[in-house]
Amino acid sequence: MRLCVVVLVAGFALLSMVANAAGLSVISGQDVAVPTSVPPANIVGVDRLKLDDHFELFEDPSAQLTFEQVSSEAFASNFRPLNGESSNFGFSNSAWWVRLSLVNPDDHPRKVVVRQDYPLIDWLDAWYTGKDGQLRHIETGDNRAFHTRPVDHRLFLLPVELPANSERTLYIRLQSQGAMNIGLFVHDPVDIMNMALREYLSLGIYYGGFIVLLLYNLFMYLTVRERAFAYYLVYLASYGLYMSIHNGISFQFLAPDVPLLLNKGLLVLLGVSLFGGTLFSRTILNTSEITPKGDAIAYFLQIGALVATVVSPFVNYHLMIIPLSVLTVAICVHMLVLGVLALARGTGTARYYMIAFSALLFSVYLYMAKTFGLLPHNFFTQNAFQIGSLIEMVLLSLAVASRLNELKTESFTDALTQLYNRRYFNDQMTIEFTRAAQNSQDLSLVVIDIDRFKHFNDSHGHARGDSALKAVAGILKSTVRKPNTVCRYGGEEFVVILPETSTADSIAVAERIRCAIEKETGPSFALTASLGVASLQDGQFESAEALFVAADHALYHAKASGRNRVIGYHQEQARPMADQRMVGTV
Ligand code: GH3
Ligand code: MG
Ligand code: MG
Repeated sequence: MRLCVVVLVAGFALLSMVANAAGLSVISGQDVAVPTSVPPANIVGVDRLKLDDHFELFEDPSAQLTFEQVSSEAFASNFRPLNGESSNFGFSNSAWWVRLSLVNPDDHPRKVVVRQDYPLIDWLDAWYTGKDGQLRHIETGDNRAFHTRPVDHRLFLLPVELPANSERTLYIRLQSQGAMNIGLFVHDPVDIMNMALREYLSLGIYYGGFIVLLLYNLFMYLTVRERAFAYYLVYLASYGLYMSIHNGISFQFLAPDVPLLLNKGLLVLLGVSLFGGTLFSRTILNTSEITPKGDAIAYFLQIGALVATVVSPFVNYHLMIIPLSVLTVAICVHMLVLGVLALARGTGTARYYMIAFSALLFSVYLYMAKTFGLLPHNFFTQNAFQIGSLIEMVLLSLAVASRLNELKTESFTDALTQLYNRRYFNDQMTIEFTRAAQNSQDLSLVVIDIDRFKHFNDSHGHARGDSALKAVAGILKSTVRKPNTVCRYGGEEFVVILPETSTADSIAVAERIRCAIEKETGPSFALTASLGVASLQDGQFESAEALFVAADHALYHAKASGRNRVIGYHQEQARPMADQRMVGTV
């Protein structure tokens, strides 16, 4: 499911580590004699330019060197160009120095903006000459308060002004506990503005969607108190917050003055999200019933996520990210397996769950295809990942609603016969009684009790008794048509509600049922039943219960008169008092 997003992030981090191990030697080979220099980036006529071919790097493993040392002439030859290598260096304790020259061959002064693409750099320092000819030193990074950034933006933007016919050299020092991704671009100011507008619109839609889902599901939880909603909320909130830190939005809007909280929060939220996601999946897929073993594994993984959550604020980022990545992959794969197992059971909830999962995987695929150049780079492919995770969240919210429906249906269904149960009967009877009273319509009730069923059980055994009850339920289902409803009242007693049906018509229905039971159970069970019928037109009934008592009364009369027959309440009313008293004692 969406955990794959995290997998991807973690996967990228791991991949970049591997790539880094290979790429490091290119950069840090101190013994290479001749430094390769790169051309300065010409900013005239440029809207947007990736700077990979225009900057040089120096890795300082001690992280102790100062700007004065690094920028000295004697040090100049230590810088190396990328030479087409990736500028993602994975996890590193070193300080990474970038040297970059911009040139303005035009007769007018020019303003440009240099952008560092990855928002999670802990410490980012930049030195360059301003338009007044004075050296500017910018000290920022996600470990420092947001106001240290020269431009209010989720990424790091450095505005540079170049006088006519001038060249400016920038030194940028980057150091971070997390992945060292150096992605530098130079932009025309209008271009960066356009880019920011689009980006912030899509981020606004994304987080707007999250907030709507969050509020909707919060209200749902408060209304129905179903645990699945609570787990979904934990999962949704932690994942949304995790993403907002990951793409830098939180540093700008959520906690601009407490960068430490957000830096520590990243892994904690990842842990909570894994925990909540696993708990949610187990609940919604009802794994403890459909696959106890799979559920046990999920429980184990869930505990792992909880431990990671609790431990991560106190442990170095490097130490935590690898076990967390492994855990993320394991959980993601296991949730997929659980989803498939649940789908095999054919539950509607599992269908939503798997569609949600697939939407996310598809978006990951689109994003990867874009990254590897198989698909064009456009708004859709660029944001596929976020769109996919939002769609996933919406579908999961539908899965919760579907689960709720399943639970509701279960609570109204009799487990043995799959007929409606007594609870449903009580609710439905009240509704029908009120409707009939308001509209002055008829309403009838048939109560059915199998004859001498105790004896049947005693002679054939309980299991066969159960089969007989199922058979009777089947007969009732096929004999009774909508809008009439059959319910199992309890034991070997059934009830049929007949809205807008007169006494005569309901007696006819009851007689049809009696015949069907006698005839159809004949070959295998040889059962008969007694039926009592009462209609609103038979007397003054104060409530639904009163109508039921009347039908039940008629039923006892049917038993007393020899069983296997239908008696209407109106017939019983007509009998002498003494006779009625006798029936009551049977
Ligand atoms: P009567 O004709 O007077 O209704 O006699 P009866 O034996 O049917 O009535 P009684 O109420 O004494 O017994 C009902 C029996 O139904 C008792 C119980 O063993 C059986 N029964 C109730 N629920 C179930 C069930 O779920 N499965 C099975 N096999 N038997 C059940
Ligand atoms: Mg009975
Ligand atoms: Mg009974």
